Amino acid sequence: MTERPIYLDNNSTTFPAPEAVEAVLPLFGEIYGNPSSTHGFGQKARHEIELARENVAKLLNCKPAEIVFNSGATEGNNTAIYAALDGMPERKHIITSRTEHASVLEVVRYLEQSGYRVTELNVDRLGHIDLDELKNEISGDTALVSLMWANNETGVINPVNAAGDIAKQFGALFHVDAVQAAGKLKIDLTEEAAIDYLTISGHKFHGLKGAGALFVREKAPFLPLIRGGHHENGRRAGTENAMGIVAMGAAAGLLNREMARHIEHMKLMRDRLQSGLLAKCEDLIINGDQQDRLPNTLNAGFKFIDGEALLMMLDAANIAVSAGSACRSGSLEPSHVLKAMNVPLSAIHGSVRFCVSRYTESEEIDAAIEQISGIVKRLREMSPFGHAEQHSNGLSAEQLEKHKAYFATA
Ligand code: PMP
Repeated sequence: MTERPIYLDNNSTTFPAPEAVEAVLPLFGEIYGNPSSTHGFGQKARHEIELARENVAKLLNCKPAEIVFNSGATEGNNTAIYAALDGMPERKHIITSRTEHASVLEVVRYLEQSGYRVTELNVDRLGHIDLDELKNEISGDTALVSLMWANNETGVINPVNAAGDIAKQFGALFHVDAVQAAGKLKIDLTEEAAIDYLTISGHKFHGLKGAGALFVREKAPFLPLIRGGHHENGRRAGTENAMGIVAMGAAAGLLNREMARHIEHMKLMRDRLQSGLLAKCEDLIINGDQQDRLPNTLNAGFKFIDGEALLMMLDAANIAVSAGSACRSGSLEPSHVLKAMNVPLSAIHGSVRFCVSRYTESEEIDAAIEQISGIVKRLREMSPFGHAEQHSNGLSAEQLEKHKAYFATA
C-alpha cells in the first residue's frame, strides 16, 4: 500500500486548485450579498462573478456575454440540445455519436421517443468518428449535430472543427461537449469556429463541483431550460452559485496563464505511466488512439482480468482510478464507449481509466506502476480463469468453457 493516496481519476473530478479555494474565501465572509441585489453587498458579489466570466471567456476565446453560468455540464448539455431544437422547429433530425456522455445520449434517446429521428455515429476501433458517415447522414432536416470534443473514458479527440463545418453547410446547429477538453486542449471560439454551443464544467479543471458554463454564440437561438428569473441575462434563472462560479473563474485564470506548462507536465506523467505499465504487465492493450488523445488520459485493458476486482484492490492499495466512466463503476455493464469501439470483451472487463493532472508527481506514477503490476499479477495467479492463454494447461475443459462464456457474454 502506498502511504499517500494516489489520485489517478482526474476525468471524474479534480483537486480544487489552492488559487481557486483562496479566491472563494471572501465569499464565506464579507462578500455574501445576492449578486442580483443593487446595493453594495450585492454589487461586490456581482463584481466577482463578472471577473469570473471574463476569465472563462478568455479560456474559450469568446465574448463574456456569450457565457451562461449554470450548475455544470449535465445542465449545459441538456440546455444546449433543447435550445437548438427549439430554434429549428421545422427540422426533426439529431446527429450525435455512440460514445457521448449520458447527459447527451440519454437526452437524445428520450427525444427519439417523442418524434425526433436520431443518428448515433459509429466509431472505429481507435474511437474515431468518420466524417464521411456524418456527411452521408446529415441533411436539410438535421437540426443539431452534438459531438464531444474529447472522450471522458479514452481521451480520444474528435475533429470538431471539421464536423462543425459540415454541420454549417447544411444549416444545422452544432453543440460541443468540451468538458474533458477544458484545461487539456486549446479551445478557440473565435467567430470563424462553427460551434454554436459549448459546455464546460468547473470541477473538471480544478474548480468546484456544481458550477459550469455554457457558451452560446451571440446569434445562436436560445431557450432557457430553467425559468423563473432574470439571472444570467434571462438565460438561466436562479441565484448564481457564486462560490462555484468564482472558483471556476480562478481556475480558468490559472489556465490562461499556465495551460501550456500543465499540458506538458500531464503528458509526461501519462506517458511515464503508460510505458511503465507496458513494460511490467503482460497482455495489456491501450484503448483508443494514442495520437489524437488528451494529454492526461490512459485507458488500459488488462486482458483476462476482472476490472471491478482490480479497482477494489487498487483502492485497498490507496490508488484511485475508475473502470470505464465513473457512473458505470459498481455496475457490471461494460463501457458503452469500449463496446462501440469493438474492444474485445476479454479486455473490456479489465479496462481501467488512468487520468493524471497537473498535480500528479513522478514518484506517484512510479509507485502506482509497482502496485498495479503486482496486483495484476496476483489477480491472474488467483483466478482459475485468469490469463487463460498462458494457464490453459491447468484448466479443465469445463473451466475453459466457463472462462470463454464469461468473457464472451457480459
Ligand atoms: N460530459 C462529459 C464528457 C463528462 O465527462 C461529464 C462528467 N463526467 C459531463 C458531461 C457531466 O458534467 P457535470 O459533472 O458537470 O454534470
